[in-house]
Amino acid sequence: MRAVVYNGIRDLDVRDLPPPELQPDQVMVDVHACGICGSDLHLYREGIGPEICTFPYPGGRVLGHEFSGVISALGSAVEGRAIGDRVVGLGMGGMAEQVALHNAIAFAIPDGVSFDEAATAEPMSNSLRIVRKSNPQPGENVVVFGLGIIGLGVIQTYRALGVELGRLIAVDTSEYRRKVAAELGAGYLIDPKDGDVVEQVRELCGNRPSILDGDVPAVDVVCDCAGYIKGFEGKPVIQQALDMICDRSGRIMCFGMFEDRVSLDLGPLINRQPQLIGVMGMELEDVNQSLAWMAEGKIDRKSLVTHQFGLAQARDAFEAQTRYAESVKVVLHPQE
Ligand SMILES: [Zn+2]
Repeated sequence: MRAVVYNGIRDLDVRDLPPPELQPDQVMVDVHACGICGSDLHLYREGIGPEICTFPYPGGRVLGHEFSGVISALGSAVEGRAIGDRVVGLGMGGMAEQVALHNAIAFAIPDGVSFDEAATAEPMSNSLRIVRKSNPQPGENVVVFGLGIIGLGVIQTYRALGVELGRLIAVDTSEYRRKVAAELGAGYLIDPKDGDVVEQVRELCGNRPSILDGDVPAVDVVCDCAGYIKGFEGKPVIQQALDMICDRSGRIMCFGMFEDRVSLDLGPLINRQPQLIGVMGMELEDVNQSLAWMAEGKIDRKSLVTHQFGLAQARDAFEAQTRYAESVKVVLHPQE
């Protein structure tokens, strides 16, 4: 079986490995689509997190955890599945022709949802988790930093849930990604290159009084889907979030990974008492909800798949995903 193996920083190759052995409680999935995740990029560029981003075969560490495909074999203890069923897998090693997956983490793909769309169910579920944990209320102002597939999925989720937000503001340096965010329902767009983001947000949301920090922007929720990229110039997003959050009732959702340590002024955390909420992964119900929304046409994930490559072009695929300004989701097709 051909698979994309991670060797080290900016070093991966497509190798022939023995196919996985099927355990009684597993299904074999012939993978048709597998997305490149932001966490795969942290690994590719900086060597961060090989143990959470790859599956260790004797022949090498296989990348990929956002995949969809067709069941081609059933373990002896598996019930309620048939060969030919289309599924999304929540496992590792998806950038390969085949994956053996525990049946409990295989999710049926509804009719009408393509393999490429279904492969985005995993990041969509992350977005859904971020939004659910942010507990959005009508009239609240929300700022989303980082318009990769997670931030864009966050915007889709706020819209799909139908919460009547005040302002939904999307922040990113990529013009292309801002344009996509607007199409998906972001009401306001900010380019950090146009000046201080906190001040730009203040202009859009207005001020609210705080007891200790004077007038602060009327921002109820910040979703940090950017995190910290090594070498980033300017204030880390988490600092900007602290600087713009309102008094007492604010929530800052921390999802984007940190490639390095950052130094922060925590004054606003103490003075304004926001909740700093970490988010990682998803609940199983989020995956089914994401797939159902795709089937109902409530969210459009097709337009977020900007590039497709065969497995042999894995390097080109990773390079395309690193070209941040023009790509959203790059998908590999292991059967091609
Ligand atoms: Zn991922």
